Amino acid sequence: MAAKLTKAEVLAWLYESDPRRCAVLYKLADQTRRDHVGNAVHLRGLIEISNQCSRQCLYCGLRAGNQTLMRYRMSREEIRQCALMAQRLGYGTVVLQAGEDFSLDADWVAETTHAIKHETSLAVTLSLGERYYEELKLWRSCGADRYLLRFESSDTELYATIHPPRIGTNDTPRHRIAILQELKSLGYETGGGIMVGIPGQSLDSLADDIALFQRLDLDMIGIGPYIAHPATPLGNGTVQLQAEHPAASSEEMVCKVLALARLACPEANLPSTTALATLNRTDGRKHGLCAGANVVMPNLTPIRYRKLYEIYPGKACIEESAETCHQCLRGQIGSLGLSVADGPGFRLRRNLRIAAASIN
Ligand code: SAH
Repeated sequence: MAAKLTKAEVLAWLYESDPRRCAVLYKLADQTRRDHVGNAVHLRGLIEISNQCSRQCLYCGLRAGNQTLMRYRMSREEIRQCALMAQRLGYGTVVLQAGEDFSLDADWVAETTHAIKHETSLAVTLSLGERYYEELKLWRSCGADRYLLRFESSDTELYATIHPPRIGTNDTPRHRIAILQELKSLGYETGGGIMVGIPGQSLDSLADDIALFQRLDLDMIGIGPYIAHPATPLGNGTVQLQAEHPAASSEEMVCKVLALARLACPEANLPSTTALATLNRTDGRKHGLCAGANVVMPNLTPIRYRKLYEIYPGKACIEESAETCHQCLRGQIGSLGLSVADGPGFRLRRNLRIAAASIN
């Protein structure tokens, strides 16, 4: 684990606005990335399997209350075809992501996971929201390798405000940190993460988020800008949240948080996200890869569904076919002097690498 950055040091970087100083931070993160996880970038094929959602998150365009959105759920055969495409394109992983859709029931997800594991050599990552321990356990036993569940913000008051109980119920949402711990105990590679610049988020709470990444010893950390969606209460101003010293949802702020996450968690797999590419279509993804990221997630969702998975508007890469996305990302990775990784890209652990080196 990295030498602990103090909260004061992290905060000083978050307040830094001189581009030359920020460049020093990115360089440090880039070097740390090279030293700990190398120069190969992992491609994780993203399949957005359903945009149905029973939640009312104040930030997300998939929220149940958004009646303007046409809903879809992919069939197992459609998902299978996407997974076979991932295998053909040489990816090591597919990520099955959805809104919180309980019609994707435990057995259906288990059989789908099992089918992909049986037919391909892909690692399977699930990102299906807050599901029950028994479900997570079943899916793990069917071969699911990883689970992504961003905790969104470590500020518990802000989180409770932006993430209310499910529609028609009083059940308090399951605590995401507790679920992340369950996932770890079940042997999943576990991914958390946050949105940067969501209304009500302070720089101070962002510093706490980075400390929490380290405390949870996350294997994967997703960090992207908040992008306002006009069909949501936060996006259309029906709910207004203020913070003292608010975090900006800018490309620079996201890159600083990525870089600090790399310094705090040198072995973690960190994606340069599509949301970052949405802020700067030509160079956003590359800037993330130069600020400590080592993963990109090409979209494999069939084009007719892609624009319906509108968690935020104006999403990058929604018109391109899987092959075009693939070529474009390979080009961007190559232009930075990086290579594309082979294999599933599990987290490298320093002590295991030392052990392996001494055996060889
Ligand atoms: N239902 C799953 C997947 C949600 S989409 C879950 O809750 O885990 C994946 C991520 O998109 C969310 O975790 C959130 O961090 C991000 N997201 C949602 N709305 C967003 C917005 N308006 N701007 C940027 N990112 C957003």
